[in-house]
Amino acid sequence: MLANNLKEVQEEIRKACEKAGRNPEEVTLIAVSKTKPNEAIEEVYATGMREFGENYVQELVGKIETLPKDIRWHMIGHLQRNKVKYLVGKVCMIHSVDSLRLAEEISKESVKKNVTTDILIEVNVAEEENKFGFKVEEVEGFLREAVNLPNINIRGFMTSAPYVSDPEENRHYFRILRELLVDINAKNIDNGNKDVLHLDSLSMGMTNDYRVAVEEGATLVRVGTAIFGARNYNN
Ligand SMILES: *Cc1c(COP(=O)(O)O)cnc(C)c1O
Repeated sequence: MLANNLKEVQEEIRKACEKAGRNPEEVTLIAVSKTKPNEAIEEVYATGMREFGENYVQELVGKIETLPKDIRWHMIGHLQRNKVKYLVGKVCMIHSVDSLRLAEEISKESVKKNVTTDILIEVNVAEEENKFGFKVEEVEGFLREAVNLPNINIRGFMTSAPYVSDPEENRHYFRILRELLVDINAKNIDNGNKDVLHLDSLSMGMTNDYRVAVEEGATLVRVGTAIFGARNYNN
């Protein structure tokens, strides 16, 4: 059953790419498995899916220890600095970097473990009060400081758009984030490695709005409910 859900989402991504004239290989689907048991993840894994996303450190670490080692785990939830040490070296990407101090901690821990960690900068494009992330106008200033941190690779941006009944209402926010990426790349920000900062990743789109996000340039979409069904936070 979950295999069918997954297939449907993949088909919708393919259609959105076709509509936008994009190559579907540019879009990576992340199955967001927070609150879901290992059995559900294994069912999706059995279809060949290897990209999974989680929000809570303790739950994620437990799953990393018990599920197949070739899963690529994405940390997509708010991350506290004192928990960074549990994730560095174990996740393929941290999507939710929302402060310079957090980026510094990821850098420090990555140096200690002799790894490089891919990160995304969380942007609160819609400026919702209950959400984490930089405002659009804060991003460049942050990047000019963060580019000098060792052992982190800043790949791009992540956003969670508002919950809306019509996903078209979010198109505007996705477009702003893509334009921000283009603008930042055009600034040729010196990254201290005799090189310039080049961002290539946009993590945007969830169950409700991933089709629109793909049309607007998403390279990573984070889909939970459409694959695993509704979440129950009581157990
Ligand atoms: C839970 C979550 C998702 C998945 O949401 P769905 O609506 O279930 O697809 C994606 N991104 C983040 C940051 C989340 O917390």
